Amino acid sequence: MKNKLKAFCTTIGIDCVGIAPIGPYIELGTTLAKRLALHQHTEFDEQDLAKRIDPSLTLPNVKSIIVCLFPYYIGNCQTANLPKYTYATDYHKVTISKLTQIAHYLKSLLKDFEHQAFADTGPLVDRYLAYLAGLGFYGLNSQLINDKYGSYFFVGYLLNNYPFEPDRPLARTCLKCGRCLAACPGKIIQGDFTIDPRGCKSYLTQKKGNLSDYEINILKKSQLVFGCDICQDVCPHNQNAQQTKIAEFRTNLVHKLDYEELAAMSNKEFTRRYGNHAFSWRGKKILLRNLEYCSDLEKPE
Ligand code: SF4
Ligand code: SF4
Repeated sequence: MKNKLKAFCTTIGIDCVGIAPIGPYIELGTTLAKRLALHQHTEFDEQDLAKRIDPSLTLPNVKSIIVCLFPYYIGNCQTANLPKYTYATDYHKVTISKLTQIAHYLKSLLKDFEHQAFADTGPLVDRYLAYLAGLGFYGLNSQLINDKYGSYFFVGYLLNNYPFEPDRPLARTCLKCGRCLAACPGKIIQGDFTIDPRGCKSYLTQKKGNLSDYEINILKKSQLVFGCDICQDVCPHNQNAQQTKIAEFRTNLVHKLDYEELAAMSNKEFTRRYGNHAFSWRGKKILLRNLEYCSDLEKPE
């Protein structure tokens, strides 16, 4: 059954697929509780700790978790002010659509197949599942790294009620070269495979409300107006990352936003042009704020 699953995944452009066990993930729970106690979390994290470590609280009949990588690297663009992961069509739509195709395929083979598909916004910790499924190893920057695609990928997973045999995690870590620690604009990479997300530029570009001077200074340190690619771009494991073969991540690319153009755009036009890109979810106002901080532009009168 596992071979059939992998063969089907290949036909829809997914060549990194593995099976994670169903937990509960006690070790992860300890790490998350520690981070919670140190306030090293953001409002974007699932607040219910039990749900993050116990898949059966989401799908009571869960027997295994199918985990897939969705690589998105399409090359470097020196003039970009958007991160690589938002160049193409919103990955939430692409990943869920492909996971649904897998579920339909399994449904055609397995009587009473049950599933729930998630990517990014699910209750569990995507990277941890991919690690358990043997799809990568951790970097000091807390990213998961795959031998073929580096860390430029999304993770999607299918909780399901078929007992696929779990894969094993890889017994290694990154090269520990320290480049990401030195380059991080927020200096929040701790050196123990964790980061303090509160000072991560990627988080700050999506944070609503007024930013403190400390936070604004972090934003100003590089040109991206949404997200942050620095700790991935400097990582030696990403220097030979293969480009994605997923067609949806190779077309309709947007690399750059322009302040004047964005400021003059109606909300309707903004949604029409950019609503299909992941950088648009926080809206025009936040992007304009970031554009002001991340460039030398003067605010128009
Ligand atoms: S994404 Fe940017 S700010 Fe966040 S840890 Fe990496 S380098 Fe630091
Ligand atoms: S830049 Fe170096 S230390 Fe950081 S994740 Fe990559 S290999 Fe590890």
